[in-house]
Amino acid sequence: MVQEKGSISIHTENIFPIIKKFLYSDHEIFLRELVSNAVDATQKVKRLSSLGQYNKELGDLRVIVSVDENAKTITISDRGIGMTAEEIKKYINQIAFSGATEFMEKFKEAKDANEIIGRFGMGFYSAFMVADKVEIQTLSYQEGAEPARWICDGSTEFEITDGNRTERGTDIILYINSENEEFLEKHRIQEILDKYAKFLPVPIQFGTRTTSMPDGEDEQGETKYKQVEIDNIINNPNPIWTKQPSELNDEDYLNFYHELYPLAEDPLFWIHLNVDYPFNLTGVLYFPKLKNEFEFQRNKIKLFSRQVFITDEVKDIVPEFLMLLHGVIDSPDIPLNVSRSFLQADSNVKKINSYITRKVADKLGELYRKDRKAYEEKWSDIGLFVKYGAISEEKFYEKAKDFLLLTNTKKEFYTLDEYNEKVKALQTDKEGRVVYLYTNDAEKQDAFIQSALKRSYDVLVMDSPLDNHFIQHLETKLEKVSIKRVDADVLDRLIQKDDSLSHVLTEDESNKVKEIFEKAINNSNMSVTVEGLSADELPVTITMEEWMRRMKEMARMGGGG
Ligand code: ADP
Ligand code: MG
Repeated sequence: MVQEKGSISIHTENIFPIIKKFLYSDHEIFLRELVSNAVDATQKVKRLSSLGQYNKELGDLRVIVSVDENAKTITISDRGIGMTAEEIKKYINQIAFSGATEFMEKFKEAKDANEIIGRFGMGFYSAFMVADKVEIQTLSYQEGAEPARWICDGSTEFEITDGNRTERGTDIILYINSENEEFLEKHRIQEILDKYAKFLPVPIQFGTRTTSMPDGEDEQGETKYKQVEIDNIINNPNPIWTKQPSELNDEDYLNFYHELYPLAEDPLFWIHLNVDYPFNLTGVLYFPKLKNEFEFQRNKIKLFSRQVFITDEVKDIVPEFLMLLHGVIDSPDIPLNVSRSFLQADSNVKKINSYITRKVADKLGELYRKDRKAYEEKWSDIGLFVKYGAISEEKFYEKAKDFLLLTNTKKEFYTLDEYNEKVKALQTDKEGRVVYLYTNDAEKQDAFIQSALKRSYDVLVMDSPLDNHFIQHLETKLEKVSIKRVDADVLDRLIQKDDSLSHVLTEDESNKVKEIFEKAINNSNMSVTVEGLSADELPVTITMEEWMRRMKEMARMGGGG
């Protein structure tokens, strides 16, 4: 019996095409939205039950997704609160009227009201991106409620009639249109569920799957296995980021890491994020082991909102220099289905960004203070993050300068302060600046390194692609320090305090050799030094001024600084 026919309110003629084309560029999102709604409805009935406002059996609360290839339908069923015909009119017919918002109002004193996903009141209509016709069969939890059915063919006309559901909850039935038949393939649905629903807080079942189970022993005493059909539950409803750090051990963090990235090596360490003021955010960030620094594996952080996967494009939320980290961030305060430009302008997003920077800096500082040796051992992996962070984020540099390490050719580690202390006595030039020497190619520059070491100078190893920028950054940050490559014309210009070094050539001989070389090179940009300190050392060094070499290098790199 038709109870009511009517038109969907609020200028639907205009909204439908927008939903279909622009709001969700990705059609697969419909499943995320409908499964999220089913989870919401389930969380609500749990909530009512725990508040004593619903006293019947909750029953098996899993959400079931099923595909009927013949009928060309996808059905999403839940045992949540359901809807009365009145509620359908209110929550479904009035697009952009979010029932969740009202629910939140009503239960805002409830502790975990924020488990209720969705605030936009648009999600349901994403069904029309893939379906010509959508049907709702629902029975409200309320005492004496009658089952109701709603059907709509994507025009602004809908129909509400008596429904057929006998148990509390809702079925959403999508009649998939011909352009979207890919969604009738099981593997496609499995793939979408894996992507968006993997960590939803209520069990989600999609058909069954076969697995092998131990089945007694054979004659040799070996365990036998049999193939059994089990429910295919696609999600882990209690991922570690929803727990307290105190409940977790290292193994939990490592297991979760491998659940996220099955092929990755163990991470170096991790940071458990957990804030509730001034915004809500939980998550675990892992520092991966980088096989080499060219292998920048970006976009590995997954963003969730109340355990629903949103995106792995976290560009504006995570500072640029931490894009190499792995892990998850979950925040109900990050708007879901909104545009990039909105994200950039959102003030919560900015706060989240600086919070993450601070947390990472604190964690690194803690690791450094707790066990310096272990920190040094990891330096070849974490140094890249720290240097990159120091260059790109002033706030990070301010914290990182205490645990930023420099390494020398003897593989010793020094903080910035320690290093200055170490070299300032010997390595000072006539202008009173402390000169740090470095090599970016220890093999090619070996002769120069050896000369420097003989003079008791120290030579830093700065050979990563990032070090060019890092050196320039340090020069602007460190007072009265200049940083020169070991083959720059600098070794003999430092104030040499050690007179015990004996020269092989007399001064006269040296001058003659110098003249010969200068004539041969005939280039005023190069300078020649003759002063072999011992017989096994090169007596002549030809050097170019540091600034000149840097200019040339930059020109070669295409003008990049
Ligand atoms: P939102 O989830 O942001 O509120 P939606 O368009 O996804 O917006 O859903 C609109 C409303 O329809 C929900 O708030 C809820 O009241 C109702 N609703 C949708 N799906 C279900 C469901 N499976 N069970 C009960 N109510 C539902
Ligand atoms: Mg929704």
